[in-house]
Amino acid sequence: MNQSAIPFNRPHLAGAELDLIEQAVLGLHTSGDGPFTRQASRLLESATGTARALLTTSCTHALEMSAVLLDLREGDEVILPSFTFVSTANAIVMRGATPVFVDIRPDTLNLDEQLVEAAITPRTRGLIAVHYAGVACEMDTLQAIAERNGLWLVEDNAHGLNGRYRGRPLGSFGELATLSFHETKNVHCGEGGALLVNDSALVERAEVLREKGTNRSQFFRGQVDKYTWVDVGSSWLLADLLAAYLVGQLEALDDIQARRHGIWDRYAHELRPWAADNGVSLPFVPEECDHPAHLFYVLMPTLEIRQAFIEHLAARGVQAVFHYVPLHSSPGGRRFGRSLDDCPITGDVSDRLVRLPLYAGLTEQECDRVVEAATEFECRL
Ligand SMILES: *Cc1c(COP(=O)(O)O)cnc(C)c1O
Repeated sequence: MNQSAIPFNRPHLAGAELDLIEQAVLGLHTSGDGPFTRQASRLLESATGTARALLTTSCTHALEMSAVLLDLREGDEVILPSFTFVSTANAIVMRGATPVFVDIRPDTLNLDEQLVEAAITPRTRGLIAVHYAGVACEMDTLQAIAERNGLWLVEDNAHGLNGRYRGRPLGSFGELATLSFHETKNVHCGEGGALLVNDSALVERAEVLREKGTNRSQFFRGQVDKYTWVDVGSSWLLADLLAAYLVGQLEALDDIQARRHGIWDRYAHELRPWAADNGVSLPFVPEECDHPAHLFYVLMPTLEIRQAFIEHLAARGVQAVFHYVPLHSSPGGRRFGRSLDDCPITGDVSDRLVRLPLYAGLTEQECDRVVEAATEFECRL
């Protein structure tokens, strides 16, 4: 009975990654904007229907690029959920602007669209929608609010490649959207991301910002005869070496997704009776949403029971984790932001949520072990 522990995440190898990296090395183009970057960008553009997908060094950097591209400045306010990763907020803070935290819905754990308008002030410039677990925010309502109030909408779609809302791909709704290819995401290249530019008026400047404020992209396309400094910018482009790895993953997207959905569906099915008997909630996916099986979480009845559950799983060799810590009440959130109210749902969900192991390479036997370990646990209230 010396079974090895089941980690929370194991980076999945689709198969072709090493060959593709070798091609990038032997092809002598390892820096940004090479042939693999072009290939990955086209694959992302066809998957999301965006005007232009620009590979970046991370989702964090794609969010920072968005803030520069939208000319966010001191005094501006941006509305976002408190229940998200720090990068969503830091991108705002780094421009000297103020993140305004709004609570989430108790069912999807997404920004509560009914609360957003109460948070709008004359300083509000935009909204950032985070599609938690790749389950879409209520986009019809959020788009209508943005339009009515003259605000831009950015999607932090780190979880949601392959997710849909009313049949339309996530990442195609906002003026801008971001993706993450961090090792913990469905498709990865170690560290990486993309900025999806849906507003075609922003494409040219996005290319300039990402190329250190130069018009080098136009130069490579033969549109200008030398390249020079034209705007602010930084080095936000992904090395072609990593783009080669990413191509291997993107080409296997259907297989990766099928594996993840298989595991997600098994958890949902096999944990249901235990959840009902123990006051545990399972993920809710509204009818209009197709989710990408990015994460499987359970909501335990209390914080104490959640901690005991994580320990119970760990003792049986199953690594489960929790996230996020509410941003509005964190030291950074208090220092740099403000919040509409005390975000009670965010606080409650953060205390009770547990994420189970979910990755494309999780075997059936491992999945059985997770289910068995979880269902042995009894919630005593
Ligand atoms: C992972 C994640 C990020 C950051 O992605 P990186 O590629 O690691 O920078 C941002 N937002 C959300 C919601 C995430 O889950």
